[in-house]
Amino acid sequence: MNCRHCGSALEHTFLDLGFAPPSNSYLDESDLSRPEQYYPLKVLVCTHCWLVQTEDHASREEFFSSDYAYFSSTSSSWLAHAKDYAAAMTKRLGLDQDSFVIEVASNDGYLLRNFVAAGIPCLGIEPTDSTADAAENLGIPVLREFFGESLGGELADEGRQADLIAGNNVYAHVPDINDFTRGLKAALKPTGTITLEFPHLMRMLEFTQFDTVYHEHYSYLSLYTVQRIFEQAGLRVFDVEELSTHGGSLRVFGCHREDPRATSDAVADLLAEETARGLQALATYAEFQSRAEQVKDALLDFLSTQKQEGKSVVAYGAAAKGNTLLNYAGVRPDLLPFVCDAAAAKQGKFMPGSHIPIVKPDTLRDSRPDIVLVLPWNIAAEVAEQHAYVREWGGRFAIAVPTLKVF
Ligand SMILES: [Zn+2]
Repeated sequence: MNCRHCGSALEHTFLDLGFAPPSNSYLDESDLSRPEQYYPLKVLVCTHCWLVQTEDHASREEFFSSDYAYFSSTSSSWLAHAKDYAAAMTKRLGLDQDSFVIEVASNDGYLLRNFVAAGIPCLGIEPTDSTADAAENLGIPVLREFFGESLGGELADEGRQADLIAGNNVYAHVPDINDFTRGLKAALKPTGTITLEFPHLMRMLEFTQFDTVYHEHYSYLSLYTVQRIFEQAGLRVFDVEELSTHGGSLRVFGCHREDPRATSDAVADLLAEETARGLQALATYAEFQSRAEQVKDALLDFLSTQKQEGKSVVAYGAAAKGNTLLNYAGVRPDLLPFVCDAAAAKQGKFMPGSHIPIVKPDTLRDSRPDIVLVLPWNIAAEVAEQHAYVREWGGRFAIAVPTLKVF
């Protein structure tokens, strides 16, 4: 296989998590008696441009089905993050009723609703019908397509280039990152701004976030590599911010290469930090596998010890990273009888691979577990606060990544 950005031969495995079904293929009860499709879950690193990337397998259509169950608006902290972003960008760029905002992967309208409320014209691009329906119900126009160079060109031809193109947690999920970036270039006004948010590879390495790996998550990005991809497409990264979302994300700001805006010192500073932390050195990537194995071993040890001691452990959060962790560790309902999730679309379904049933959060009150293992560790504090009543019967919370912790 060749690198999806620079085309160099990929010779180094960064992480091998065995075989797993697509993380977002939640199962109905009737699916449980049928065979499930498993794909190798392997991540490679390019030693030329340092793009960390999953091995190619199935088509993206298979991973993004129309009943794709992830609705961004389910998380209250994510909604607040989106609202803050909209206010900050409106101020920084001076957006008003004559501006035009495009969001790629607009999901259920969790972000663009803020621009609609402010009277700023906007357009969502979202291939998933279930979430696009929800956005349209909020009054947000949605184009139901995958974004890339071709769609970007069509928007430009129709005179619909944007002052702001936002992409939150989409850049790492596109199979053809070069084509997607050329699409951003095409759909951007000469004076326009692009912002992209994605989990930062530097934090993934630092905090052993191996469970953020799943098939639909094609790229694991550093500022160094994103800057190279932007440059090749005729764009320039002119600013960057570090965010706490998803365990440590970046928000990069892009413009056309010839845009007169100065490049902020934050770009050079962060590039220097990435280099100092070894992001362009193969040795940094070589030791990650054994750290992932240690997390897996500690989790299995913990779950079996609790079981032997007669303690009950249940899970919270049927997120993609939970599926990666549970499938890699081989955890099944004998160790975790159910997982609670606030998303109505997931309740009544089963986790892919592990076949652990997904139930309403209320189930915690009835079953009074000793330990609630929060699978999406990035929202563990929010979950523990919302379900503080678990402590009334002496229950506690736990996370497995970066190291097993009970709190
Ligand atoms: Zn490469």
